[in-house]
Amino acid sequence: MGEQRPLRILLIDDNPRDRVLAARELRRTFTDAQIIEIIDAVGLAEAVAMDDFDVVVTDYQLHWGDGMAVLAAVKTRRSDCPVIMFTASGSQELAVAAMQSGLDDYVVKSSQHFVRLPIAVERALERMEQRRVATRLDAERNALLIRSQEAERRATFLAEASALLTASLDYQITLGHLAELVVGSLADWCLIDMLDEDGELDRLAVAHHDPACAGLAARLRNYPPHWFRTENPIGEALRDRRSVRLDAISPEQIEASALDPEHLQLLRELRPHTAVLVPLLARERVLGIITLVLSAPERAYGPQDVQLAEALAHRAALAIDNARLYKTEQQVRRQAERTAARLSRLQLVATALAGAVTVDEVAAVVIEQGVAAVEANAGSLVLFDQHSGQLEVIRAVGYSDEVLRRWQRFPLSAGTPLSDAVRERRMVLLSNEEERTQRYPHLHGERAINKANAWAAIPLLAGGQAVGGLCLNFGSARAFSAEERTFMDTLAQQCAQAIVRARLYSAEQTARAASGAASDRAAFLAEATALLTSSLEYDTTLEHLARLAVPRLADWCIIDVQEPDGALHPMAIAHLQPERVALVQELRLRYPLDTLPEHPVARVIQTGQTLISPEDPTAPLALRGVDAGHTALLETLEVRSQMVVPLIARGVTLGALSFVSAQHDRYGPDELALAEELARRAELALDNARLYRAAQQAIQIRDQFLSIASHELKTPLTSIFGNVQLLQRRLTREGAVGERDTRTLRAVVEQTDRLRKLVDALLDISRLQAGQLSVARDLVDLGVLVRQVVAEYQPTLEQHTLTCQTPASSLLVRGDALRLEQVLHNLLQNAVKYSPQGGPVHVRAEVRNGYARVHVSDEGIGIPTAALSRIFQRFYRAANADTRHISGMGVGLYVVSEIIALHGGEVSVESTEGRGSTFTISLPLID
Ligand code: ADP
Repeated sequence: MGEQRPLRILLIDDNPRDRVLAARELRRTFTDAQIIEIIDAVGLAEAVAMDDFDVVVTDYQLHWGDGMAVLAAVKTRRSDCPVIMFTASGSQELAVAAMQSGLDDYVVKSSQHFVRLPIAVERALERMEQRRVATRLDAERNALLIRSQEAERRATFLAEASALLTASLDYQITLGHLAELVVGSLADWCLIDMLDEDGELDRLAVAHHDPACAGLAARLRNYPPHWFRTENPIGEALRDRRSVRLDAISPEQIEASALDPEHLQLLRELRPHTAVLVPLLARERVLGIITLVLSAPERAYGPQDVQLAEALAHRAALAIDNARLYKTEQQVRRQAERTAARLSRLQLVATALAGAVTVDEVAAVVIEQGVAAVEANAGSLVLFDQHSGQLEVIRAVGYSDEVLRRWQRFPLSAGTPLSDAVRERRMVLLSNEEERTQRYPHLHGERAINKANAWAAIPLLAGGQAVGGLCLNFGSARAFSAEERTFMDTLAQQCAQAIVRARLYSAEQTARAASGAASDRAAFLAEATALLTSSLEYDTTLEHLARLAVPRLADWCIIDVQEPDGALHPMAIAHLQPERVALVQELRLRYPLDTLPEHPVARVIQTGQTLISPEDPTAPLALRGVDAGHTALLETLEVRSQMVVPLIARGVTLGALSFVSAQHDRYGPDELALAEELARRAELALDNARLYRAAQQAIQIRDQFLSIASHELKTPLTSIFGNVQLLQRRLTREGAVGERDTRTLRAVVEQTDRLRKLVDALLDISRLQAGQLSVARDLVDLGVLVRQVVAEYQPTLEQHTLTCQTPASSLLVRGDALRLEQVLHNLLQNAVKYSPQGGPVHVRAEVRNGYARVHVSDEGIGIPTAALSRIFQRFYRAANADTRHISGMGVGLYVVSEIIALHGGEVSVESTEGRGSTFTISLPLID
């Protein structure tokens, strides 16, 4: 600057001559200098006030003052401005005193000394320049020193802050540390507000450097700022992501930021004077804001403070972000661990449920595993009963007995979380007591509920229907996470499915048991039917029936049968212990039913209605007895319960079936049904046996009659036949009768012969029936017998040609010649009779395999195939014999087969209807 403008020299001297001299000398050296000449006090004051000079040259002796006064005036204004004084010669002391007061140099005022003036000025200026440089350097050094000290202080602070901020990974603790750190150095008090997930600010830390005010400041926690208000500086800092400094905060500003009068009062007491609001930024996200406040008016935030606050905020934001990330990571890890644990728990539950077959087992698995898995302190499982509309607890843990008793059953409309969950088929979750009080005020004071602080009620849904519910109680309040809700829901639904499965299983078991019982019954009845139809004998059937009842239906069984005259007789008895049958017999013998009209058997026979005793415990005679003996006998026979079923066939009461047991109340509807089924089958079998017996009796009477009749008829008929033959022969010989009488006589002989044969046949039948037909065991030559019979028979035939073929050797058999002759006659007669058109009849005898065989063949009507197996039965006649009106009784072949059988031989037939028949008899040959 000195180079740019000319040197300005203030020359103060009130002697004009000296001034000229001095100026001339100065100009000699400083050619461009401006010399301002001052001649009086006013000029000096103006010049000093103008302050536009570089050096001052003053005379000591001034008529309006002296050089000392000028020196003082200049130095006061400009301490660094050089001042050079003219002094009178010889006043050295004066000059020294002036130098002590700041004078730079002096020049003795004389003509020869004037030349020294420019040198003095030059030197003074040089000294001044040196001083200036030194001062500047000093200042610069000082400034540097201060700056480095400040930087060091800040670095230390930030290092300390970093250490403190990273000391903990707990985000809340970190914030506390930050606040404490700040109030020690950067602020009188501070606030830290963090943005939550919803973008709202939470005041998480407040600190004040004065412990006396800490309580006051702490109350600011209740006033998190509404930062989104545009006029709010916090909002400005957050939105613009930059620091905002508030200098000299006015009462109006305080008022504007207060949320309510109390807040305002608080703020006024805390006296914010200057503040800086620094956003906390990390990974380009705004995490929150830190507010630093100074209350003392003498302090204020400068740019460096703001910078420091920002550096601190930057570190704090990173630390918070780290802490948050760590927390999130921890949470995620814990969540993952919990999820894994729950999944494995669900797996366990599923496995355990697969093995649970009853509803109770299912409930046990779900409650035990479920309660542990969600860390509940109590749990219960209820099932919904559709009929009663009630919920019933089937499994519970963690409740007192008293609570369990009171809540064992409750209606769907009970208005509890569990009943609501089942009714509305949705989960009911109560995270804390407040929620519970709000939603279930009426349950206040309910102990089952009060023991917990959070509740979950989950419906058990199967096919859209709620089969019941699961209730879980938690010791502490909790927000149910989505994962937790899913877990509980899955648990409940697994449980519901298992319950449905268990119910199906139990239904199937019941059905299986029922079908087992049914097939048992069916097997028993089938066995009964087989046994009852195995005999047509009435008594045997009754015996079978009584035996069937024991032990399946009774310890002992008795069948009382009603005779046509109404009398009742015990016909069959069976006892588990056979030796006791005699006791039962004694019972009926000593106390006959006819004398006990009130006896259950008598009543059943009378009414035809089934009866179970005891129908009332005091009454039944059969169990009580009519006298002491009766009672004792009943006691011995252990008659405790009894069932009597009537046997009725085609409207007729045949009798009654009594089942007796030593067991009390043995008989119920099932036994009764089975007994009745048995009775129905027995009735059929008994009816058949009865009919069979009647038929047998009828047949017996008929046979008896036939036997008697044929015996009685035989003798007179034989006599009549003999005499008629005699008469015929005699009259024929004598020729005494005419043609007509001869024919009549022949007819009489023929009819008598037929009658005789008929009677013979009947007699044979009755003998066979009675087992009285016997055959002789003589030697008979069958060949001779055949030839003899054929020879006798041949002359009587007109339409038929009878041929005979016998071996030359004899056919010796052992037998009854008369009976064998009867057999041959019979076969020949049939061959002729059943060839009504005539034709050949051929008889052939032969030996085959040690048997003598005789075949009698005809070419007559033959025998229908269906009749072949039956023609040897008594009274059987083939249909074609009847349609052709060939008379006969169906007896001949029966007698033939019986006679041959008595000879140890066989008779057989081969025939084709319309073609003819061949009958063959085989008799064992004698070796
Ligand atoms: P019947 O008195 O009816 O002849 P049999 O006992 O001698 O009684 O014969 C039984 C039945 O066998 C006859 O009714 C007839 O149907 C049949 N039968 C017996 N012999 C012959 C035969 N040679 N040809 C055809 N049918 C015969």
